[in-house]
Amino acid sequence: MRRLCTLLFLAGTLGLMLVGCQSGEKKRKTLFVIVDGVTVDNIERIAPATIFDIASVGGYSRGYCGGKVGQYSQTPTISAVGYNNILTGTWVNKHNVSGNTNQNPNYNYWSIFRIAKEQKEDVKTALYSSWTDNRTVLLGEGKPETGGLKIDYVFDGYDIDEKAFPKRKHDLHIFEIDSFVCERAAECITKEAPDLNWVYLWYTDDAYHLFGDGTFSDKYVHKTDSMIAKLWEAVKYREQNHNEEWMVIVLTDHGRDEMGYGHGGQSDRARAIWMSTNIKEVNGQFAEPYLSHADVNPTICKFMGFEVPRDVAFESDGSSFYGPRDIYALESRNYDNKVVLTWKVDQGKGTARVFMASENNFAKGQPDDWKEVATVPVTDGGCTVDLGAVDSDFYKFAVQTENTVLNLWNPRKKNQPYKPAE
Ligand SMILES: [Zn+2]
Repeated sequence: MRRLCTLLFLAGTLGLMLVGCQSGEKKRKTLFVIVDGVTVDNIERIAPATIFDIASVGGYSRGYCGGKVGQYSQTPTISAVGYNNILTGTWVNKHNVSGNTNQNPNYNYWSIFRIAKEQKEDVKTALYSSWTDNRTVLLGEGKPETGGLKIDYVFDGYDIDEKAFPKRKHDLHIFEIDSFVCERAAECITKEAPDLNWVYLWYTDDAYHLFGDGTFSDKYVHKTDSMIAKLWEAVKYREQNHNEEWMVIVLTDHGRDEMGYGHGGQSDRARAIWMSTNIKEVNGQFAEPYLSHADVNPTICKFMGFEVPRDVAFESDGSSFYGPRDIYALESRNYDNKVVLTWKVDQGKGTARVFMASENNFAKGQPDDWKEVATVPVTDGGCTVDLGAVDSDFYKFAVQTENTVLNLWNPRKKNQPYKPAE
C-alpha cells in the first residue's frame, strides 16, 4: 500500500519546524458489543438512537442464532451459548457450550481472542464485561487448553463483587455494572485503543425476564443505548485524532418467547437476532436469511487481516460480511454412496477446492486428514463426491475459494455402504 506522508512546515522566527508526519495507512481496530436478549421487533420499534446511528454509517440487518433447525447445528437460544457462537464462529455441536452453567467449552474451536493472540504481530485485546464467566469460562483465560490465553485489558469481576455492587431491587445492580463497564470501556478505548475490544452488557435481558415486553424493558433498552453512545463517541474520537479505522458491531445474543420473558427455544422470535455496524462495504452475507452469530468471528478476522490456520478456518460456520464473498449457502445431500454438494455464487471467478475428512479429530485437538476430493470452477455451484471405499459414519467437507471458506458436516449410517438393488 502506498504511504502518504503529510509534511507540514511552519516558517517562524526560529526557522523551519516539522510539526507532523503521518502514515496514510490506517491502523485497524474492532469493537463488538453484545446487548443481551433484545428481540428484533423490539429493537426496530424502540429504534435506539446510537444503535441506529451506527447503522446509518454502515448497515443494520436481521439475522439468526440457533444454528440450523432440526439439523446437527441446532443450538439453544441461550445467552452464554450465543456469546460463544459469536466468539468462535461455530455452533454448539462444535463449541459445546449449551447453557449458562456447568459449561464445558471445547477450546479447540478458537475464540476470536485466541486468534488475535496467535498473530505474529502483537495484537492488544480488551474485555469489558458485566459477567465474569465470559473471561474465565468462555474465553478460558490462562488455561492450558487455550494456549494460556492472555487478555491485555480486563474490566470485569463486578458481578461477583457484592461490596461494590450490592444486590438491588429488580436486579438494578446489574444495570449499574453495565454503566460502569461502559465507562471503563469508553475510557480505555479513548486512551489506550486496544486492537480488539469486546463489551458485554447484561441488564436488558434481566429487564425482559422480570417484566417481559413493555415500558420497563423499553426504558432500559434506551438507557443501555445511551451508554453505548459513550463507546461510539470514543471510537469517533479515535478516528478523528489518530490514524485509525474502526469496525463497530453491535448485536444481540438471542431473541425471546412470545411474551418476551423467556428464551432458549427455536421459535422464529427466539432465533431472530439483529446486528448494527458502521462498516460501509458489507457484502451479501449481511442480510437475511444468511447473516448469523457465526459470521462475526470471520468478519473480524477479515477486517483485521488476521491469519487463521487452515484447520481452524475450515471449522468456521460463518462467513465474513466484510470484503468480497465468492460463495454462500453450502448444502449437501446424500445420494447412494455419493455426497452432492451445492453452493450459491456471488463472485463467479476462480476455482472452488473441495476438501473432505472422514473423522473429526479436530474436536479432540488432533489434526484432520483433509483430502482434496474435487477442484471445480466456482460457477459450477457444486459438485458430486463419490465416497468410494471410505466407510465412516461421519464426513465433513470444506469448500475453499479465493475469499471464502464454507464447511458442513455430513452424517451417514456406518457399515451400510450403498448396494444397488438387484
Ligand atoms: Zn442472553
